[in-house]
Amino acid sequence: MDATGRLFPNYKHVDDCALLARRAFELIRDIYPICRSITGDGVRETLARVAHLIPLDISEVPSGTPVLDWEIPREWNIRDAYVADSTGRRIIDFRVHNLHVLNYSTPIRVKLPLAELRAHLYTLPHQPDRIPYRTSYWREHWGFCLTHRQLETLPDGEYEVVIDAELKPGRLTYAERLVRGESSEEFLISTHVCHPSLANDNCSGIALAALLAEQLGRGKPRLSYRFLFAPGTIGSIAWLARNRDRLRRLRGGLVVGLLGDPGPLTFKRSRRGNSEVDRIAAQVVRELDPAARLLDFSPYGYDERQFCSPGFDLPVGRLTRSANDMYPEYHTSADNLELIRADALAQSMFALLRIVERVDTNRRYRNLSPFGEPRLGKRGLFRATGGADPGEFEHALLWILNQSDGGRGIHDIAAGSGLPRAVVQQAANALVAAGLLEEVFLETPLANPEPSGPPETEVE
Ligand code: ZN
Repeated sequence: MDATGRLFPNYKHVDDCALLARRAFELIRDIYPICRSITGDGVRETLARVAHLIPLDISEVPSGTPVLDWEIPREWNIRDAYVADSTGRRIIDFRVHNLHVLNYSTPIRVKLPLAELRAHLYTLPHQPDRIPYRTSYWREHWGFCLTHRQLETLPDGEYEVVIDAELKPGRLTYAERLVRGESSEEFLISTHVCHPSLANDNCSGIALAALLAEQLGRGKPRLSYRFLFAPGTIGSIAWLARNRDRLRRLRGGLVVGLLGDPGPLTFKRSRRGNSEVDRIAAQVVRELDPAARLLDFSPYGYDERQFCSPGFDLPVGRLTRSANDMYPEYHTSADNLELIRADALAQSMFALLRIVERVDTNRRYRNLSPFGEPRLGKRGLFRATGGADPGEFEHALLWILNQSDGGRGIHDIAAGSGLPRAVVQQAANALVAAGLLEEVFLETPLANPEPSGPPETEVE
């Protein structure tokens, strides 16, 4: 943090994020072609490219490892896949677009008539020119995805089907980056890394999370920031299963993703609904985007479903633009590089910087003399002459004394009182010096602070 109390003094306006947005787009373009899944080399390759920007700690969890109510699946890797017609011409080709293969397809090499092949073909009749994104992680199955337009033109006859893939015991891969601050309290930024060639969902989230980590690594934050790059659902479940002891230090967090499309900034509240990140993120998106949307928690979406499951109930919200199925390109081949807008990336980046900066400076205090107002005059904090209206500073003293119960921080009190944050902070400093206030470093009552469960699994 610099002398002005800002964590990111170079980013005061959304335009200041133009260069970061360009760099985010470069990373999105770089990782977009990779065929990712919930396990396998696509995730490893993606993380290797992110590691060009920020150092990453990679974890690999063996197939079969129990994690909460789940189990790490076998690892999937694919080399090639196609459907060829009777002349041997590839008419559906994984090399042309990796969405053409049902993600996690079992290997197969077979000749089939069209009538039988149809049961393995997926299209979008209402968006006939787009290839759908489909997966079959938990049921052994194979298939291809294609445009409905193409399906309608397939002539009867025999087709050669090849999926040159492997599904065998291996590992699930995720990565973390911890940016250490003055305090061991942690703020979590989590993003999913399992989708193949889909630009907004979620190359955009991966890129912006990486750049935020880079910027935080250059500053001197008060809190510590943990970045998690993990496959959706099973990745965050694996991380939660292996980090239960760490959760009590978690002050809050954000799931980030789908941040490059032209939709408005959208914040989805945590299950708690009114935690620190809920208040601050709602404030920030409203300030930055008049069309901003605030959504209440629902158990559908991304990894907030796991972080906000009732046993954990962590104060983790989600920042997106057009959330999951709220845009027509969602989970189709139209979620490509053309959907990504530089101004959207810049605004999303700026929102992330602002939210983090505010959480980081949202110091929380406890009033040490909460029974009645303490006498401020005798401590030289309040003007001795009665009758005149108190000034901003005196108002700030009263506000902070009244609101400092360990939960509300400087930003909350500034927002509630209408007083400038700097004045509220100045008043807090004076009260600390007078022995009337103490800073509170962790106030994250967890639903299950000491959860019991299966012993942590052996991993390498
Ligand atoms: Zn998705």
